[in-house]
Amino acid sequence: MVSRKTAIPRGTKIRQISLSRKVAPCPRCQHLAKRHSLGHRRLREVGINGPTILEVTYSKHYCIHCRRHFSLPMDHLAMPSGRFTNRVRRTAIDLVVKQAMTLEKATHKMRQKYHVHVPPTTLHDWVVAEMDQF
Ligand SMILES: [Zn+2]
Repeated sequence: MVSRKTAIPRGTKIRQISLSRKVAPCPRCQHLAKRHSLGHRRLREVGINGPTILEVTYSKHYCIHCRRHFSLPMDHLAMPSGRFTNRVRRTAIDLVVKQAMTLEKATHKMRQKYHVHVPPTTLHDWVVAEMDQF
């Protein structure tokens, strides 16, 4: 089921992406595990002409050796529990770190230019996490 918690603004572009595979290597033992179902996830994406959402369909797998469920990784698209794409995160962090904007100004810029609302508190967490890597 796609989460209905997020209200989608009028005129939002929805781009569908499928990351489904019949088999995928188990992250723990590398055994090729069969798909048992599909999951869906909505991510807010950088929008050029208006709000854009990525609707990602991904496969869920079960490893018979580890007796463990896992989802097909999508680290290249988004953080595991995030609501935004990495592109949104990267763009917003750069406004603060490289262009020295305040959190509030960066939030405003993200909404004005890329049609995505990143709360300043969320952006703060991203910047702090980014700084911790150095
Ligand atoms: Zn396994």
